[in-house]
Amino acid sequence: MRLRRVVAGLALLVALATAVRLAAAPRPEWMRPFPPFRIAGNLYYVGSEDLASYLIATPDGLILINSSFEANVPLIRRSVEKLGFRFTDIKILLISHAHNDHCAGSALVKRLTGAKYFVMDADVPTVESGGKADFQYGAQEAMRFPSTHVDRVLHDGDTVWLGGSVLTAHLTAGHTRGTTTWTMDETDSGRVLHAVIVGSPNVNPGYRLVGNKAYPQMAEDYQHGFQVLNSLPCNLFLGAHGGYFGLTAKYARWQSGDRSAFIDTSGYQAYIADRERAFNAELKRQLTQRQ
Ligand SMILES: [Zn+2]
Repeated sequence: MRLRRVVAGLALLVALATAVRLAAAPRPEWMRPFPPFRIAGNLYYVGSEDLASYLIATPDGLILINSSFEANVPLIRRSVEKLGFRFTDIKILLISHAHNDHCAGSALVKRLTGAKYFVMDADVPTVESGGKADFQYGAQEAMRFPSTHVDRVLHDGDTVWLGGSVLTAHLTAGHTRGTTTWTMDETDSGRVLHAVIVGSPNVNPGYRLVGNKAYPQMAEDYQHGFQVLNSLPCNLFLGAHGGYFGLTAKYARWQSGDRSAFIDTSGYQAYIADRERAFNAELKRQLTQRQ
């Protein structure tokens, strides 16, 4: 029994060491460790300073949202353990969208934990091809990641259940074909809080919103995504990157005792409105350029 545990421990160390060696570190804040903490109810932050990962702790095991880069996996693991949970108790792995900064570590997380991987239908080809099927970055070697088998294909509006916790997958596409905004209700100090984890409403540099042969309905998808985001009730404003919702500033408030630091309905509305303005400006620019 003890030998088996030692062998399992060694395998884990080897896997983590390999991951750290292989991964590149594109931006310092993506790799910078961040203290794990309880956001509300059974929802915890376990990501780095900017690559957000979330843990939902239930009596039947853990749900992890976003594996990030392979090099982030040891950081996420340490954060999960610091909170007093077992990394190997992760039963379900979810992502915000199929870009390497949110999903490159998924194969490693699956290997280390045996978690089942649930991904939005339109992001499945990208995830399972290791990035090759991505409409924008498919040909770029640096954007690739280990191809990862998806265990359950999600559709818009699907729910994910574990141990009494329920998450809803909202398709908010455009940034990728299957960009997913996750919502869940948390009860904290007797109050129900609607949490929204924004998938990404951002138009990346080089994205062709108009006449894009690889993704013809891209602009319409963004527009639909903004409709959805504008319709979601939000108390706890969260997202795929810490920068979306001002993680570091809010955490400083949280640390000084303000347990409502992440309750920010107006911040959510302002962020979505700002991103929608940026999208509309870029669409207009591309439309006028074409004439
Ligand atoms: Zn992205």
